[in-house]
Formats: sequence, C-alpha cells, structure tokens
Amino acid sequence: MKVDMHIHTNVSREGPITIDRLRKICLKKNIFPFITDHNTIKGALAYREKYKDCVVGEEIKAVYNGRFGDITGLFVNEEIKRDLDIFEAIDKIKAQGALVYFPHPYDRFRKRSAFFEKNGEFDLKNKIDIVEIYNSRIFGMKDMRKAISYSDKINAVKGAGSDAHWPIEIGRSYAEVNEFDRDNPKEFLKNLKDGKLFMIKKGNLVLLTTTRIYAKINSRFP
Ligand SMILES: [Zn+2]
Repeated sequence: MKVDMHIHTNVSREGPITIDRLRKICLKKNIFPFITDHNTIKGALAYREKYKDCVVGEEIKAVYNGRFGDITGLFVNEEIKRDLDIFEAIDKIKAQGALVYFPHPYDRFRKRSAFFEKNGEFDLKNKIDIVEIYNSRIFGMKDMRKAISYSDKINAVKGAGSDAHWPIEIGRSYAEVNEFDRDNPKEFLKNLKDGKLFMIKKGNLVLLTTTRIYAKINSRFP
C-alpha cells in the first residue's frame, strides 16, 4: 500500500484540503493518508471518525536550541501542546506509544526546520523513530542528502511525505509498505523499514507562495 506520511487539512489553515476532499483524492490516487496538521489533531480525528482509514498525527512546533523547529507524532491519541522543548515533546509522543517522525530537518527555505542555520545539529539518537528524507516541498537535493546521512547517523528509519497543503500535492511523496494494523505503530515501523520510498517534486515555488498567502489571509493560523 502507498502511504503519504505527511498531509495537512484545512484545519492547519494553510490550505483548502477538507477531509471530504482528502478522502476523494486518496481513493482516486490510491493513497493512505497520515494526517499531520500543525499543533492539532482535530482534522485527523474528524477524518478517522468519518472514513476510518487514516493515521492520526500532529506536526508540533517545538523549541530546539532556543529556536523553533517541527517534530511530528504519528499514531497519537492525545493532542500535544506546542512550544515545548523538543525533548519534552518527544517524551510526550513516546508516552502515548506513538512514533517520533522528524520532518524536513535541514530545509533551508523553511522557518521551522530543526537544524536550519543557527540551530546547529544535535544528537537525537534513540529519540527519533523516523527521519523524513523525502518531502516534496524541499527545494534542495543537498538538504535531502543531509537528512539521509542524519538518519544513518542516528540509526532511524527513513520516511517520505508530500507535506501537502494543496490537493494537487497529495501523494507526491510516499512510502510503499506492506499492510499494517492501523493501531499498531510498531508494525508500521517494521514494514516501513522494509518498504520503498518515492518522491515527485515540481512547482514548489508557486505552492509555497500560495500557501503563505493563504495562511496570511486565514490569520488564525498560529
Ligand atoms: Zn507539514
């Protein structure tokens, strides 16, 4: 099955993907969605209640070395507060039995990349289950290569997500994995390890710009 490990709904207020639209596109493209909105699981829970087939995630704004960076929980049951120290956020993800997914760690064009510029790199060995090595919104192959070597360095499994904020982006990065029990993060992790990752990258500048404009208009976005 094809799993897009990083999708946003309109609950993130950065794009127009409603849960009904997401469902339609996922059926059409044969994609299984991991819904990872910023600092909320409301959209993911609504999707799960209506359509069952999704994994609930949350992309959490956390503090790394005094700066902000994102960290994602996959298979979460309870929402985790934003602005926590990275290690505290990770503990809260793990306390739920959820997986720690490290999104776009080196993306230079993003405000909240963990290892962006002055943040520096630090050791998250045994803290991170999965490093996102493919993200369809990253411009630089160099940034992706850094993510790949970091995942090797800390011995984490590699993952892929489109980071879709717009319908057209859904499924642009995905992992092909064997079927897994939707309530069993460990089984998913094992399958991901044996899986294959894919990525499509195009029209990034337009997508990033429109997302920023959309977020500005919908100013409730944190
Ligand atoms: Zn995201």
